[in-house]
Amino acid sequence: MHLEGSCHCGQVRFSLNSAHPYPYQRCYCSICRKTQGGGGFAINLGGEAKTLKVTGEKAISIYHARMPDGHGGFEASSAERHFCKFCGTALWLYSPEWPELIHPFASAIDTELPVPPEHTHLLLNSKASWVEVEAKPGDQQFDEYPKESIADWHQRLKLER
Ligand SMILES: [Zn+2]
Ligand SMILES: [Zn+2]
Repeated sequence: MHLEGSCHCGQVRFSLNSAHPYPYQRCYCSICRKTQGGGGFAINLGGEAKTLKVTGEKAISIYHARMPDGHGGFEASSAERHFCKFCGTALWLYSPEWPELIHPFASAIDTELPVPPEHTHLLLNSKASWVEVEAKPGDQQFDEYPKESIADWHQRLKLER
């Protein structure tokens, strides 16, 4: 499926191909919540990095999240959270560990996305206390990351496009 996205002020536009475009994965981690998830979670999609086309690249800034280093300090996450530096729209996440993948945020996509038949709620350990998990029957819930990747989920439900 071909996806088109943009920031709110319109200076950044992007497109990419995605075999895994169902917005089923709700991440409740503090990074997603603070940077873009006003309702308490953010939704990442899976896309092909080699098909990414961007206009307005100059308006993009990158945030490397501040992560606990396990020794009482902090270190910068290798993951690149791309956002528009003028309007603040979160655009996509790119991790150098998985160079073939781009994870666009569903909130930045303008193409009409398919409605997922079930959801996966993840990183519930980091959920804010005021956020209610609106889980439907069949939804999966995880305190940490699920083992099932975005690609695995689409394969299990036979929803690859
Ligand atoms: Zn913008
Ligand atoms: Zn997250």
